[in-house]
Amino acid sequence: MSVSASVSAAASVQTICPPLPVLGRDVTVPLVTGGEVTYAALDYAASAPALQRVWDDVAAYAPYYGSVHRGAGYLSQLSTDLFENARRTVAEFLDCRPDDQLVFTRSTTDSLNLLAAALPADCQVFVFETEHHASLLPWTNAQVTYLNAPRTPRQAVETLERALADRDPYGPALVCVTGASNVTGELWPVRELAAAAHAHGARIVLDAAQLAPHHPVSVQDLDVDWIAFSGHKLYAPFGSGVLAGRADWLREAEPYLAGGGASRKVSRREDGGVDVEWHESAARHEAGSPNVIGAYSIASACKALTEAGFDTLVARERYLIEKVREGLAEVPEVRVLSLFGDDAPRVGVISFVVDGWNSSHFAAALSAEYGIGVRDGLFCAHPLVRTLLGSDAQAQGECGAPEAAPGEKSLNAIRVSFGAGT
Ligand code: PLP
Repeated sequence: MSVSASVSAAASVQTICPPLPVLGRDVTVPLVTGGEVTYAALDYAASAPALQRVWDDVAAYAPYYGSVHRGAGYLSQLSTDLFENARRTVAEFLDCRPDDQLVFTRSTTDSLNLLAAALPADCQVFVFETEHHASLLPWTNAQVTYLNAPRTPRQAVETLERALADRDPYGPALVCVTGASNVTGELWPVRELAAAAHAHGARIVLDAAQLAPHHPVSVQDLDVDWIAFSGHKLYAPFGSGVLAGRADWLREAEPYLAGGGASRKVSRREDGGVDVEWHESAARHEAGSPNVIGAYSIASACKALTEAGFDTLVARERYLIEKVREGLAEVPEVRVLSLFGDDAPRVGVISFVVDGWNSSHFAAALSAEYGIGVRDGLFCAHPLVRTLLGSDAQAQGECGAPEAAPGEKSLNAIRVSFGAGT
């Protein structure tokens, strides 16, 4: 390999930030080795660049911008319509059941924390240790069973079945599972896991943060009880997410945020206190002025992906995955990380280590010498990456990059991720 930039040189290049175009994404960066290159951000798993179509839709809406659910004025009514239409568009995109509730949140992390806050009393939660921290960690109010990393999809189902068979069949239980790994890109057997959960009286929530941008997702077909995803990974801007699914637990829970919009009626009691009637609709968990632009952007991205056609997107992405994997296979020092093996179906998320290289230095050099932006670290999935690396390294930051000494086995990995949406 001819990656020879020193890390200090890479650091100094990163401080030279060229002026950014207002809406475009092309950014030309000077290279350590001379010349310039258009920066390629192969980090879609973190955040995919928002589609021009989404920016255009937002710009077209901007002159008509008004507060939702509150005002009698025309712009307010229009914005309320757009907000509620966005809810319907996204529900359609996810193929939700007619009586499902769709709550707009800030992100997948927010959606899963909302569901965690809405769990019934004494709920048991089952989650694989391989999950992203957003799926692994929110269940602090529940009794959590962490399931060991499976090495095949079949083993995942069997592991879950065994764990569920031991539980109290009369108490509530929730399984949380990711649809596509943010580390390996591998698809999980969601339909089979949902069937196993239901056969044992448990419910299931699908973390579709990495699945929804790459694959058509049908809540009904997969038979999951809830689904969560983030706008900024689905070619919409930051700041909005979705939790959709069964209304009952959400309706019975305390509001995620207490405040205006979530309350239907508030009155003073004779004893000086306050009585509140909360909404039973999605508004119950959307207190405060909602992120209308965020909801509208997600809906716009959903429409754009649907119009592009997932058959085309999946085929194009499969081609890109093959190209990247073929390229990596030509480099003997590269080891691609995989839980389920080479043949497992996957999305455009590929993590690897390079023998003899510290992953953080390698990633810095890729940026400095080639203008290729990748991610290095443990990808907010520490237990999974440690299992895959066979390492017990302690990460220095949540998604951060523990350093290996020069020549030592890498304690973290490099991830390239991309999609066919742009
Ligand atoms: N779940 C998975 C599988 C992810 O990859 C991520 C983000 O990388 C999340 C959840 C959290 O998403 P967000 O940061 O948008 O809340």
